[in-house]
Amino acid sequence: MTDLPSLRETLDAHGLLAKKSFGQHFLLDLNVTRKIVRYAGPFEGRAVIEVGPGPGGLTRAILESDAGKVVLVEKDPRFIPLLSELDDGSGRLAIVEGDALKVREAELVEGPAHLVSNLPYNVGTPLLIKWLTGPWQPCALTLMFQKEVAERVVAAPGDDAYGRLAVITQAVADARIVMHLPAAAFTPPPKVASAVVHVVPRAERPSPERLKKLERVTAAAFGQRRKMLRSSLKQLGGAALCEAAGIEPDARAEVIDIAGFLRLADALK
Ligand code: SAM
Repeated sequence: MTDLPSLRETLDAHGLLAKKSFGQHFLLDLNVTRKIVRYAGPFEGRAVIEVGPGPGGLTRAILESDAGKVVLVEKDPRFIPLLSELDDGSGRLAIVEGDALKVREAELVEGPAHLVSNLPYNVGTPLLIKWLTGPWQPCALTLMFQKEVAERVVAAPGDDAYGRLAVITQAVADARIVMHLPAAAFTPPPKVASAVVHVVPRAERPSPERLKKLERVTAAAFGQRRKMLRSSLKQLGGAALCEAAGIEPDARAEVIDIAGFLRLADALK
């Protein structure tokens, strides 16, 4: 990686400017991308899928690591030739032009794989939900979000940021913020600060049916988060549902912990 031109030179050589519609804010400092990859690893030869590699700053750091196969999924075709320059021909790197929301990860890698991404902000949340609740599961995810979204992922009951995203994530995985980045770390800088979240799915995760019910209950409960559960959950059974789950019907969603939401999901018909 050390003989390659700098990321800025590469962008200039290809005449590439960031596109707002693709949520493009690049990390051009390899010291920063190497640090993110250290939090993501060690990979010990396992595959890594990187979503939205863009000019390849994180990709270069992943390629320097102990990752086995490295699969890139990039929607913007302008970056494909530039990313191809990182391919040493050994077969370790695969570049997929496509939409990460639609891609079937199980077809891209064999065996356990890590996910690493400086996510496009407009699709960060749906992608996290896809990887946590979908049929294919990574062994760990290291993802850059807007700081405010990162806080929603790791929030605890009673926090302002506690809501659906925290409940769904933490029902499936352990999640923590490992790094904060100011807007100035990106080119061009976004309007908000960012944070890297490291998410490790637990071996025992709720079944897909249970997760679907959890999504229904949390959508209703947090859709009207200032209301008591007896009223926000009215369509799903209201006070009777709460009582069946051992939850106080006059409580509000923001104080119910993950175990409480799972009991509500289990009590759903
Ligand atoms: N990883 C690069 C970095 O850190 O400098 C770029 C990060 S930039 C925030 C997000 C990247 O995701 C862009 O390259 C953008 O084109 C790509 N992208 C946006 N939407 C995507 C999608 N649905 N599927 C795959 N890539 C996407």
